[in-house]
Amino acid sequence: MIVVMKGGCTKEEINTVVCRIEEYGLKAHISQGVEHTIIGILGQIFPELQDRMELLPGVEEVIPISKPYKLASREFHPQNTVVKINDITIGGNEIVVIAGPCAVETEDQLLTTALAVKAIGANILRGGAFKPSTSPYHFRGLGEEGLKLLAKVRKETGMPVITEVMTPEDVELVAGYADILQIGARNMQNFILLDKVGKTRKPVMLKRGLSATIQEWLLAAEYILAQGNDQVILCERGIRTFETHTRNTMDVSSIPIIKKVSHLPIFADPSHATGKWYLVTPLALAAVAAGADGLMIEVHPNPDLALKDGAQSLTFDNFGKLMSQLTPIAWAIGRKLAVSGVKASP
Ligand code: PEP
Ligand code: MN
Repeated sequence: MIVVMKGGCTKEEINTVVCRIEEYGLKAHISQGVEHTIIGILGQIFPELQDRMELLPGVEEVIPISKPYKLASREFHPQNTVVKINDITIGGNEIVVIAGPCAVETEDQLLTTALAVKAIGANILRGGAFKPSTSPYHFRGLGEEGLKLLAKVRKETGMPVITEVMTPEDVELVAGYADILQIGARNMQNFILLDKVGKTRKPVMLKRGLSATIQEWLLAAEYILAQGNDQVILCERGIRTFETHTRNTMDVSSIPIIKKVSHLPIFADPSHATGKWYLVTPLALAAVAAGADGLMIEVHPNPDLALKDGAQSLTFDNFGKLMSQLTPIAWAIGRKLAVSGVKASP
């Protein structure tokens, strides 16, 4: 349930509403909009609550939120959430591109990739140090050594870095190095991990679970928001279907659905969604055309030698082609690519 305060209501009136909510054993969550202050009521709502809240001074209206997720819903927070990382704005008019290898392998591999993708126009560097792996025999990442390489390359290139955190115990460690914490698809419903990253004040990218519905995904985001971290970015990375031609099926429709029902920024990861490098560009273009706020793309100097996900990794050349094609798509929908390095021309 949300309480919409009248424009120009007083601080005392807001305080009275918050106190009343807390007296009922419920939690109040204040969101300051451009015209109105909105107070979310979280907890077990009882039938008389709406009428009682409507009688308080300064209250314009009280609206029940129909969705099981509250803080993640657009009803609660009508304006888009904007996440800022240095001078990069996620969730605004600009399309932000995250690029880099699946896994951090060596300093040379990471630095070469970072310099190349930055020059082509990427804004943020990705690279896994703790890698979730379907098979225990595959490369599982360099661990803290990988985090140190990310920090070193960030210093040399000025690019913010995103990397995955897999366990609640590692949150502090990873948060000490990363600009954005990534929660991988396999951990989307690791609720202890979600609580833990929710307690940090670092932006979190929450990838969609392999077989998660949009509602389950938003409820996972709700865990992070409920801990007080409002810097959540969603990422569609494909879901498991009967189709075997692709690694997953990218649910492009989730992008406008998320935009409609939530205020959180949404990215697309066509690399993990398709599993095949030649499908990455078409799906990247489709995602941006559908309203995605950004892309996460796997790029490797030598995909044929990559320790992980070489089949879906773009060469520098192919990443350049993707960025060139992206520019007119962004323009066509009234957006533009965020500026970084030498921009690809349309
Ligand atoms: C990744 O981005 O490195 C990754 C493992 O992706 P996902 O969690 O979407 O499989
Ligand atoms: Mn990967």
